[in-house]
Amino acid sequence: MTPGPLRVMTVYGTRPEAIKVAPLLRGLGEDPRFDPVAVVSGQHREMLDQVNQIFGIVPDVDLDVFAHGQTLNGLMAKVFERLDPVLVKASPHALVVQGDTSTVAAAAMAAFYREIPVVHLEAGLRSGDLRSPFPEEANRRVTSQLASLHLAPTATARDNLLRENITADDVVVTGNTVIDALLHTSRQGVPFSDPRLVALEEGRRVLLVTTHRRESWGTAMQGVGRALRVLAERYPDIEVVLPVHRNPLVREALLPALDGLPNVLVTEPLAYGEFTRLMAASTVVLTDSGGVQEEAPSLGKPVLVLRSNTERPEAVTAGTVRLIGTQEHDVVRQVSLLLDDPGAYREMAHAVNPYGDGNATTRCVAALAQLLGVGEREPDFAG
Ligand code: UDP
Repeated sequence: MTPGPLRVMTVYGTRPEAIKVAPLLRGLGEDPRFDPVAVVSGQHREMLDQVNQIFGIVPDVDLDVFAHGQTLNGLMAKVFERLDPVLVKASPHALVVQGDTSTVAAAAMAAFYREIPVVHLEAGLRSGDLRSPFPEEANRRVTSQLASLHLAPTATARDNLLRENITADDVVVTGNTVIDALLHTSRQGVPFSDPRLVALEEGRRVLLVTTHRRESWGTAMQGVGRALRVLAERYPDIEVVLPVHRNPLVREALLPALDGLPNVLVTEPLAYGEFTRLMAASTVVLTDSGGVQEEAPSLGKPVLVLRSNTERPEAVTAGTVRLIGTQEHDVVRQVSLLLDDPGAYREMAHAVNPYGDGNATTRCVAALAQLLGVGEREPDFAG
């Protein structure tokens, strides 16, 4: 009897997880050696559905663990309780988790307890501070301890793992699948559905802003809101565009300061295709997002990061990303510098691809094949 394809289960719950997992699910689906099983946790339900649609993914199981206002422990408990019977029933040959959310840590632990090999996609990112970003840094470290295969996006991430005594043979440098997702999506040329966004492509300077991180909720985010007001008033010729996260805490902190400004455009979160188009049309990107820090440099956009540390130092070293924190005057000063000084702008606005070459999926699939004894891994991504 010939053995059937190997079942590789992937558990994901948030928009950024979906964006980074989608190319891998497609890659596994196109390879006869594998039978991918997509399990969604439903953590960011609507935003997740948008991404699944772009990549043609239909989830096999929905754990439906999301509830408004639930605690991290409540979420973890639900993932354990609802994933375990799914693991038992499907009995996958490996479980893939991506990144650093609480779903990731819980799913990795649940699979480990069932003696299912854990594969960590985007492994080895470290801020160096267990409490920041919270709780992601802890989630990443826990997951690294449980994984059998570490798909590190960059050599820096691999080195972080080796410093923690992870076996070198278990680490493959793949590049980040977010760049595969970005290229796939940009090729589709998705149009804007909001006419206000269409108008932006007519040559207006755009300051694109996304912020959502837990550490910035409250006063830090209010400061960012005030800084945006100062900038919008100082530069009436620019358009400040905010696709605002659905979290009410983000909205309450950020939006009141921006009321009544004609050149501030607030939208709902954009579907991935539209968001990548907006990044490409932007002049400066101001963000605390991990994924955006990885994508915008490859589009040649300067990125100012609303954080004081990052687990993604590669583009900072390459000079296209700068950490500026969340203080009102720092945000105003750093954005103004880029808007006023063409030399300073040029210095930051060059395309670099430290995070991937668009072939991460192929390397990930090959590494999985090696783990499961049906192939050989490919040479590491060189960066
Ligand atoms: N993104 C999107 N629509 C938006 C804002 C962001 O599709 O309105 C994408 C973005 O391109 C990136 C990902 O979402 O790939 C980042 O998600 P987020 O900032 O929520 O999380 P993080 O990357 O910080 O984990």
